[in-house]
Amino acid sequence: MTESFEALRALVADGGVVVLSGAGLSTESGIPDYRGPSGVARRHTPMTFQAFTRDPLARRRYWARSHLGWRLIAGAAPNAGHRAVAGLQRAGLVDTVITQNVDGLHGAAGSTSVVELHGRLDEVVCLDCGNLTSREEVDRRLREANPGFVARVAAVNPDGDVDLPDEQVAAFRTVDCAICGTGMLKPDVVFFGETVPPQRVARCFAAVGEARSLLVLGSSLTVMSGRRFVISAAKRGIPVAIVNQGPTRGDGHATVCVDAPLGAVLPRLAAGVSGTAAPVGV
Ligand SMILES: [Zn+2]
Repeated sequence: MTESFEALRALVADGGVVVLSGAGLSTESGIPDYRGPSGVARRHTPMTFQAFTRDPLARRRYWARSHLGWRLIAGAAPNAGHRAVAGLQRAGLVDTVITQNVDGLHGAAGSTSVVELHGRLDEVVCLDCGNLTSREEVDRRLREANPGFVARVAAVNPDGDVDLPDEQVAAFRTVDCAICGTGMLKPDVVFFGETVPPQRVARCFAAVGEARSLLVLGSSLTVMSGRRFVISAAKRGIPVAIVNQGPTRGDGHATVCVDAPLGAVLPRLAAGVSGTAAPVGV
C-alpha cells in the first residue's frame, strides 16, 4: 500500500492526468455501488432502452422506481473524493474528468471539464421532439400526477431506481412531454442497449490520447464503455493508475493499483502532491 501510494503520488504530481471515475467514487455520498464489494445486490435486471421504449409496463415500472430513487440522488452531496479531484484540477494536475456516474457530483464539487459519459439523471429528454427538461420540473409533474404516492424504498442503485411491488407500479402514472404533448420522456442517461453519443466518446479518446497518465477512480471497469479508455491508454504507453476497492477488469493494464477506500486515499493524495504533509495512518 505504501509503495503503491507513493507510485500513485509520483504519477499524479507529474500532472497531465485524465480521471476516469465510476460508481465507487459516489458510494461515500450515499449512492450505492451495485458492483462494488460493499454494494447492494441488484435485485432486478437493468432497464434496457428497448424495453423502456417498447413496453409501457416496463416504462411505468422504471419511472415509478426512479421517482422514488430520485430523492436519494437529489439529496446527495459531493464527498471528500470528489473534492480532492476538484482540488487536483485547481492545482493544475488533472485536466479532463471522464465519469461513468450520472449523479452530477463532480460538477457539484467544483470540477470543470467533466465529460459525463453516461449522461445525467437531473435532465430528462423527450424521445420525440428532443426537448430537454430539468428533472426537478418532471419530478414536480410526477408528484402532481401521483398524489400520495408513497412507497417503501428498499434499495437504490446508481441508476436511481428502487425495488417496488407490482401493485404500486400498476397505480403509478407517468407523464409525457409538456412541449410536444405526446412525446415519451426518458432521463437523459445512457441505458443498457443504448450507445454513448459518438462525439462524446471521441472527446474522451482525444483527452486520453493527450494525457500523461490515466487515473481510474472507483470503477471495476466491468463495462467496455469505460474499459476501452484504459485499453487505449495502455496501447499508447500512457501509464494507468487504478484506485478502487477490490480488483478491476483493468488491473492487467495498470502500472499502479491501490486497493483502498477512495475517501481516505484521495484527500491524502491531494495533500501529498500539493506539498502539504500527508496525514498518517491511511
Ligand atoms: Zn416532446
